Amino acid sequence: LYNELIELRGNIRVFCRCRPLSSDEVTRGCLSIVEIDPSKETELQFAPNERERKSFKFDYVFGPQKDQEVVFSETVPVVRSVMDGFNVCIFAYGQTGAGKTFTMEGVPDNRGVNYRALEELFRMSEERSESIAYSFSVSILEVYNEKIRDLLDESDEQSKRLDIKQSADGTQEIPGLVDAPVYNIDGVWEKLKFGARNRSVGSTNANELSSRSHSLVRVTVTSLHLLTGQRSKSHMWLVDLAGSERVAKTGVEGDRLKESQFINKSLSALGDVISALASKNSHIPFRNSKLTHLLQSSLGGDCKTLMFVQISPSSTEAAETLCSLNFASRVRAV
Ligand code: ADP
Ligand code: MG
Repeated sequence: LYNELIELRGNIRVFCRCRPLSSDEVTRGCLSIVEIDPSKETELQFAPNERERKSFKFDYVFGPQKDQEVVFSETVPVVRSVMDGFNVCIFAYGQTGAGKTFTMEGVPDNRGVNYRALEELFRMSEERSESIAYSFSVSILEVYNEKIRDLLDESDEQSKRLDIKQSADGTQEIPGLVDAPVYNIDGVWEKLKFGARNRSVGSTNANELSSRSHSLVRVTVTSLHLLTGQRSKSHMWLVDLAGSERVAKTGVEGDRLKESQFINKSLSALGDVISALASKNSHIPFRNSKLTHLLQSSLGGDCKTLMFVQISPSSTEAAETLCSLNFASRVRAV
């Protein structure tokens, strides 16, 4: 089983991905302050000026030239483990513009982890069809200001609030959440597009809003072993987190301030949960945010967690990049 391979490296992994300088940044004369030695796949140097140089280690470092395919080839063992009954969470963390959506959703002619992961699940299901009958369904939701919204809800009640309920077996349920069966990759693509369209409803600037909310795709995998009759159910969460940038301390008020406080709270709650899990603490503070509460059954224990820390190489983003690298190291270090 693929799982044995992963086991050797523990259940929490952190990948760092650095995007290329944009053409606009090149025009403006921004320099790259992130150095990646192609022969070292787990290390990067953060070098914002001549005197300062800091080295960071991760489970994998993807430089600007590493394409979607290479990134997915390192991600695929984690994806595969959901087919063996393990719960999986894959996150993209980082400041707005660092490449979170590029990694998870990708662009139409260069798709990201979400699409490729589902493609792999259907491929494996086909491959194992003689012994196991798999079925798949997807839910798509958004967490904005600690409120959960169903992006596959076709009713007009866009503002319908979802809540998390603890069920008898200790897992979390979200009563009323649409869980749409999918039978092939085209069906998944339709759902992903529908969810993305729904996300921008009611916002004047879709990009702006998307950077301030967490976007989650939950894939439910159920399996029936044809010989033993054994059934199992597991989840894979694919999460494009809200932008991690800190807003300026002064001059921000009202809605914007409230939003950023919610984002800070949930991202630090996520960091706290992951590091508590990694250090095997007895108390894991899942209840400190909607995000971590939602993911409770898919974090910790036997679950597989993969965090992409997305960074910009630009000298103009040095402060935020350092924050993201420090966050990632904290998550990984324990
Ligand atoms: P975020 O979701 O973190 O705000 P995006 O994924 O929207 O950031 O990325 C910002 C811009 O950079 C987009 O135009 C995206 O296509 C581009 N981009 C991000 N990562 C890469 C990459 N690895 N290679 C090429 N372009 C990228
Ligand atoms: Mg984005």
